[in-house]
Amino acid sequence: MIELRVDAVADDPDLVVSLVARTTLPCILTCRHASEGGGFAGPEATRIELLRRACAAAVPPTYVDVEWRRFEADAELQRAVRELTTPSGSHGPGLILSFHDFESRPAGLLRTVAAMAQEDACQVIKLAHRARSLRDCVDLFDLLDSRGKPMIALGMGEFGVATRVLAGKFGGLLTFAGLEAASVTAPGQLPLDELLHTYRFRDIGRETATFGVVGYPVGHSLGPVIHNAGFGEIGFDGVYLPLPVAPGFEPFKATVLSLLAYEPLRLEGLSVTLPHKEDLLRLAREEAWEVDESAALVGAANTLLCAGDRRCVCNTDVTALQDCLQEARQRERFAGVNAAVVGAGGVGRAAAAALARLDADVTLYNRTVSRAEEVAAALRASAGSVRAAGLEALRDAVPDLIINATSVGMRGGSKPDASPVPSRLLTEGVLVLDTVYNPLDTPLLRQAREAGCATIDGLAMFLRQAAEQFEAWTGVPAPIDVMRRRALERLGD
Ligand code: NAP
Repeated sequence: MIELRVDAVADDPDLVVSLVARTTLPCILTCRHASEGGGFAGPEATRIELLRRACAAAVPPTYVDVEWRRFEADAELQRAVRELTTPSGSHGPGLILSFHDFESRPAGLLRTVAAMAQEDACQVIKLAHRARSLRDCVDLFDLLDSRGKPMIALGMGEFGVATRVLAGKFGGLLTFAGLEAASVTAPGQLPLDELLHTYRFRDIGRETATFGVVGYPVGHSLGPVIHNAGFGEIGFDGVYLPLPVAPGFEPFKATVLSLLAYEPLRLEGLSVTLPHKEDLLRLAREEAWEVDESAALVGAANTLLCAGDRRCVCNTDVTALQDCLQEARQRERFAGVNAAVVGAGGVGRAAAAALARLDADVTLYNRTVSRAEEVAAALRASAGSVRAAGLEALRDAVPDLIINATSVGMRGGSKPDASPVPSRLLTEGVLVLDTVYNPLDTPLLRQAREAGCATIDGLAMFLRQAAEQFEAWTGVPAPIDVMRRRALERLGD
C-alpha cells in the first residue's frame, strides 16, 4: 500500500486525482494538517474540496486519513468525511482516523482510542505518539492486541522502532516506511529496504521470537544487520531489534523485566552493550538467574538467554577474544607471553580476563590508572597474572601481543585518526588486535601491518561474540560468512 502525502498540493485536486489514479497499489490519501505535524495550513474548506474530488473520482483512494482532533472539532469536516467515506466491508474509500503526539504519550490515550472506535465512519484507528521508552512500546503492543477495529499503533522516535518492525506480530493493519532514508515522514521510521530486507518484515508473525541489543545508544549497532541475516539464512523464526534503554540500573531493570513479562513478545535473548553490561550481571544476581563463569570473571555480561523458565547470562566477549587469539597463534601456548591490553573499560576487562585465563602475563594500560588498578585487582583474585599501569608506561613496554580496547581510532569518536600504541612497540612478530571495528582498517592496524606485525581486526572479534550468542539462542551454528558479508556491506556505507 502507498501513502500519498499531498499536504503541499492540497489546492490542486486535479493533480491529486491523477496521482491516485496512477498509483498501482491500494493507496492512503493523506493531507496532513500542520497542527498534527503535516504541511497543510490552509482552510478546512480546501481539504474538504480535495477529499470530495478524490473520493468521487473514477479511481478513488482505498483510504483517506483525517486527524481525530480536527474531525472532532469541526462539524463541517465531520459531515463531509462521513458522507464521502464508506463503512467497513463496503466498497469505496474507508476512513482512517488518526491521532499524533510528537512529544510524548498523550494523557487519556485509552479514552481517545475508545472515542475513535465509537465513530461509525471510522474503519481504521491510527495512533502514533513519541515513545519515551521501550515500555511505551509494550503498551502499544497491548493496545493492538486488544483492538476492536483494524488499528495502526506506532511509537515515534528511537524508542519506538520495535513497534514499526513488530506491527504485524501484534495484528497491526500496517506499518509505515520511507521509500529511502531521506524520505521518511516521521521520527524513527525506517527506510523500506531496511524494513523488508534487514528486518524481514514479511516473515514476522505472532509466533516469531524476539531478540535484540540493549544499550544506549544502539542506533548504529551492527547487531540487527548480522543476526537478522543469520536468522534468515537458517530459516529461524526470529527477529532482532535495536532496544535502546537509557543509562542507569533502574531503567535497565524495569525495561528488561517488563519485556520478559510480556509473553506475546516471546523474548528469547538479548545482547547487552554499553552502558548496561554490568547492569545485566547485577540483575542476574538479584533475580537469581544462572551466571556463566565468563560473566562472573569479568564482572559484566553481554548476553541473556531466555529459554522457557531458564534465564542465563554470559560474556561472549571473553570467549570470542580467546578464540580469536588462539586461532591467530595456531593454538600455541600463551604461558610466558607478555600481553599489553590498552583500555580498562568493558572490552579491556574482557580482554585482560581472556588473556589471564590463557596464562599470559597481562599488563592493563589505561588513561585513568585507578580504573586499571581496580580491574587488575579484581582479575588477580580470580583469573591470574594482571598488572596495571598508566598509558604513558606503554612507551617502555616490550609486549608480544597488544590489544587496543580503547575507543581511540574509532569513527565518530574523539580521536578517529590516532593510534593509542606508540609505533616503537610495533615490530615484526608482535600480534596486534584492535577491538575497534568501525572503521575496519584502523590507524593502529595500518601501522602494525606496515611494521610486519600479525593483525586481527575488531570485526573478527565482534562476529565471534555474536556467533556464540546466535548459537546459544538458536541451537544452530551461526552462518558466519553471511553475517560477515552483511556487516561489511553496512560498514562500507
Ligand atoms: P568503555 O567501557 O567506555 O571504555 C572505553 C575505554 O577507552 C576506557 O579505557 C577509556 O579510558 C579509553 N579511552 C577513551 N578515550 C580515550 C582516549 N582519548 N585516550 C585514551 N584512552 C581512551 O568502552 P568499551 O565497551 O570497553 O569499548 C571500547 C572500544 O571497544 C569501543 O570504542 C569499541 O570500538 C570497541 N568494541 C569492540 C567490540 C567488538 O566486539 N569488537 C565490542 C564492543 C566494543 P578511561 O578509563 O581513562 O576513560
